[in-house]
Amino acid sequence: MVVTEDSFWKIKNLSDMNQTEWESLCDGCGRCCLHKLEDIDSGEIYYTNVACRLLDTTICKCTDYGKRMQMVSDCIQLNANDRDNFKWLPGSCAYRRIAEGKNLQWWHPLVSGDPDTVHQAGISVRGKTVSETQIDESRMEDHVITWITADIG
Ligand code: SF4
Ligand code: SF4
Repeated sequence: MVVTEDSFWKIKNLSDMNQTEWESLCDGCGRCCLHKLEDIDSGEIYYTNVACRLLDTTICKCTDYGKRMQMVSDCIQLNANDRDNFKWLPGSCAYRRIAEGKNLQWWHPLVSGDPDTVHQAGISVRGKTVSETQIDESRMEDHVITWITADIG
């Protein structure tokens, strides 16, 4: 794709995108598939390096995308009209960036034309996680990371 001033993500609201455009906004980083903790007093969200059991951490893809909502009860299905769920997304996430009026970054596959740039730029979680099946979930706090935040990309 050649990026122009009228590339769809620059001129359309999320709610106006067709299904193909909507799906293509996902950069494949896998960040949203990590467990998060919320401080109940401040509302601040902390990411951990603990991945959902369905995440293939080598390619950062869900291994059962079609049935994910049945398989994982707290898997979030993004909806353009449900912005409350966007606060959980990392600041790098294209859905959140577009919702906030920001542009996509150079490494986004729609901009670079290369699905690997999200990995090359160190944005994806590839090689940086541990599966929820391999940890003691009562010790989730021990897995908090600082290289992803919900506020900055
Ligand atoms: S954080 Fe956003 S861009 Fe990254 S995998 Fe999740 S939905 Fe896609
Ligand atoms: S079910 Fe799939 S899409 Fe949902 S959090 Fe787990 S790996 Fe990610």
